[in-house]
Order: sequence, then structure tokens, then C-alpha cells
Amino acid sequence: MSFRLANIGGRAALVDDLHHYDLERLTGGRVGSDPMTSLHDLGALHAANEMLDGADPTGALADATLGPPVPRPRNSFGVGLNYQAHADESSMELPKAPLIFTKFPSCIVGPTAEVELRSEFADYEVELVVVIGPGGRDISADDAWDHVAGVTIGQDISDRALQFAAKPPHFDLGKSRDTYGPIGPFLVSTDLVPDIADAAITCDINDDRRQDARTSGLIFDVPSLISYLSAITTLTPGDLIFTGTPEGVGAASRTFLEPGDVITSTIEGLGTMRNVCR
Ligand code: ZN
Repeated sequence: MSFRLANIGGRAALVDDLHHYDLERLTGGRVGSDPMTSLHDLGALHAANEMLDGADPTGALADATLGPPVPRPRNSFGVGLNYQAHADESSMELPKAPLIFTKFPSCIVGPTAEVELRSEFADYEVELVVVIGPGGRDISADDAWDHVAGVTIGQDISDRALQFAAKPPHFDLGKSRDTYGPIGPFLVSTDLVPDIADAAITCDINDDRRQDARTSGLIFDVPSLISYLSAITTLTPGDLIFTGTPEGVGAASRTFLEPGDVITSTIEGLGTMRNVCR
């Protein structure tokens, strides 16, 4: 009961360590090619994964260009100041309720996409991203993981000048410029991650490790975020929750992203994502 879902050329694919398998072809058309609709039936994804043994791969993973595993989320949420040390470095008080903002779905790009810098104040934020499977409203924290399709890595690229251009700040705009939402490389079912609540999470800029923390540092954890959000709005398959970034962002040290910078984002059990700035 597990799968790793990828987006290759806009088509859903399952992957093993070396190969990718076109989902529609693998299942003889039982599961469609759209990565979004595949999230509506996790049982079918699990069943398809059982078919990988002995199946003909569509191609080698090393030769594939991956798109965002969830290309068109209906909603995409971000959570601000969700790690204590990051709130401290930002000189901000911890929010008493989750500080939610919108990351426009239009900013979502793939795990090797270029990040197009549009100001001198673009910043990186590596984050654990939760992908909703079965949607719902008023989901209890106890039931929350049953509503998760899987998890992936995200970069909540943030234009700090734009974010703080107005008072109070408008997080939404500063975090939603085109290409400012890389996710990937795969959507990984949670049973494949040994302990997603305590996984190493790092971000390197070129060869410099800037963020190095564990997901256990989340103040509002995944179940409480799902419970909180679903009490406000119905969650639907493919909705994204960027759960917040740990300490070490560029704004704290006044070192912002520059053209040519390589952003390497890694979460234990989920792989690595590399995005170059242009
Ligand atoms: Zn963030």
C-alpha cells in the first residue's frame, strides 16, 4: 500500500528507484493520465503500484524531466512562522492560531524548474508540503492523516520586499510570483516515509547549508493544520499545504537569491529538489 507519483510531460507516472511507468499505460486505461484526477482514487494508485513488479518501464528516471507532481491544485495554502527558531530570527511573535496565507496555484512549478527572480529580495524557504487525498470538511485531527494522499518537498520562494510592501504585510502576493512554488520531485505516500513527523529537512544554496532542521519542530503539526483549515473551507484532492519553514532563511542574514544560485531542498525519505535561479 504505497506509491511514488510523478508528473512526466503532464502525465501521471509511478516511479521506482530507477524507472518511471506511465500510469494510464500501466493500468490499461483504468487510471487516467491526469496527475490531478489520479488523486481522487488512492486505492487505484496503490493497486497500480502493485503492478510495477515485472511491468515494462516507460523510461529511465534519469532521462525524465519531472513536472510538479500536483500541477493544478484547487487551493494552495502556506503557513507562516510555524517553527519557533524561524519566528525568533524573523523577530515575530508566535501566532496563537495558524498564520495561513495563499500561495497562488499559478506559482506552482516542478522540481527542476528555474526560479525567475523578479527583485533583489527573493528568499528561499524549504518546507514539507502535504497533499490532500480524500477531501472533506470539519476533519478531526485524529482522522487527518486519512485525508492525506502523500507528501512532497516545497520551496516557498518569497519576495520579501513585496511581502512587506504593505502594512499589515500581504504574504499572499510576496509568495506567489510566477515560478515561486517549486514542488517535487515526487508525491510520496506517507507509509514510505519512516517518520514524517520527525524527518530531517535541509536547504543548500550552492554549497552552503542554510537550513538544517527536523519536521518535529513544527508548532502546528500536520493533523492540527488539516483540522484547522477544513473547519474553514472544504479540502479537495490535490490541495497543497506548505507547512512552514525552519530557521536559516536569507532575510535573517540579508543574503538573498541571485541569478545562477542553485537551491537544493531535501527532506529525509522524500528525495531532493534542485532549482536554479534566473
Ligand atoms: Zn513559508
